[in-house]
Amino acid sequence: METPLTQHIVANRPPLSLKEYEQVGGYQSVRKVLKQMTPAEVTELVKASNLKGRGGAGFSTGMKWSFVPMDVPGPKYLICNADEMEPGTFKDRLLLEGNPHQLIEGMIVAAYAIQANVSYVFLRWAYKLAAHEITKAIQEAYDAGYLGKNILGTGFNLDMHLHTGVGRYICGEETALINALQGKRANPRAKPPFPQVSGLYGKPTIVNNVETLSCLPHIVNNGAEWFKGLSKSEDSGTKLYGVSGKVKRPGTWELPMGITVRELLEEYAGGMKDDVQFRGLLPGGASTDFLVEEHLDLKMDYPSITKAGSRMGTGTMIVLDDKTCPVGFVLNLQHFFAQESCGFCTPCRDGLPWVEKILLAMERGEGKPEHMNILEFHTQFLGPGNTFCALAPGAMEPLQSALKYFRADFERHITEHKCPWK
Ligand code: NAD
Repeated sequence: METPLTQHIVANRPPLSLKEYEQVGGYQSVRKVLKQMTPAEVTELVKASNLKGRGGAGFSTGMKWSFVPMDVPGPKYLICNADEMEPGTFKDRLLLEGNPHQLIEGMIVAAYAIQANVSYVFLRWAYKLAAHEITKAIQEAYDAGYLGKNILGTGFNLDMHLHTGVGRYICGEETALINALQGKRANPRAKPPFPQVSGLYGKPTIVNNVETLSCLPHIVNNGAEWFKGLSKSEDSGTKLYGVSGKVKRPGTWELPMGITVRELLEEYAGGMKDDVQFRGLLPGGASTDFLVEEHLDLKMDYPSITKAGSRMGTGTMIVLDDKTCPVGFVLNLQHFFAQESCGFCTPCRDGLPWVEKILLAMERGEGKPEHMNILEFHTQFLGPGNTFCALAPGAMEPLQSALKYFRADFERHITEHKCPWK
């Protein structure tokens, strides 16, 4: 099984230095694109590879780049979204700490494709080790002539800056991230216009996730067909999957796209711990709908999980077991989302704390029969189209599916005037 993204990541040792990275073929894709390909050819290659954005939404990377107006004069920007804050998600961290040169190489490829001369890594504040490794790697790349002016004598210029956020979930939303980078309050902006047309300082901007960018050197070196062939499904490539919860071996693994939910849970995460039973899982971080027993043989890819009524999101699942109260589980998530709302649009700002309050009342044995309808109402009221960005609709996904699959457990909190798990 090929694991191109993680092949040079070794536990408990620092990432490859520039020299070591070059010895295993590092920065070859930069030579290739800058010396042998036009920007349009790079975009076409990435389109043909069917690489989909690994931040959670699964939007075609090549298509996203193709929306950048290449004939407009003036600056264009590339931003790496490294603000990994989705609960249960710890995949980009592995790449950031484990092989920062691979990310920088991918960023040079992407910047060349869209002809950006300035790029940023927007990093989650808490990722201190990653900040250290990236700072070091960026300097090494400048010193070796992979960044800066006239890269490899080709006339292409690229500067790269590390920007650390201050620990707000909303900064992972690309337009909020752009506002934050401009020193403004991190409220999302309306889309359209999409950042590809009007992003940082109103200029064409591409925001791509760490894992997405880390795929690029391998696609350039090995081709679109090779990338497609890594996968077991119609989505291409490998994916960094993860599992957390009461399983025997929680962790992150690079596996062929389209591995089944069951393989991931039972073979890689070792199955449930001996004293607990499986009840359900959120397939890709907290802002996805529950999957249950009947879904275990689904492929973990974007279309299969969407067809089952959820989303693959970040591909890092959170598992619910029978010794954990589903209401308490969802309450914990709603507390997070309510706290992380930017407060700009009313349904999100006022709706999420209201949902949290009701779930808290249920957990305390103070739930009322009408609370079920109020929760159902909010899953629609805070749903897609009613809020400015995907934060509140994402928050409603675990709630609406918990009400579907674990409804009796919610009702027991009300009829028994207590949490049955306490
Ligand atoms: P989105 O679908 O609105 O956009 C995804 C990307 O595709 C964006 O770059 C957007 O500009 C582009 N895009 C989408 N539609 C387009 C169109 N019609 N024209 C041009 N470009 C278009 O999703 P989003 O709000 O950016 O992201 C939501 C996802 O983020 C969720 O799926 C969630 O799982 C994930 N998420 C991840 C993290 C993390 O830590 N990795 C944190 C929070 C949320």
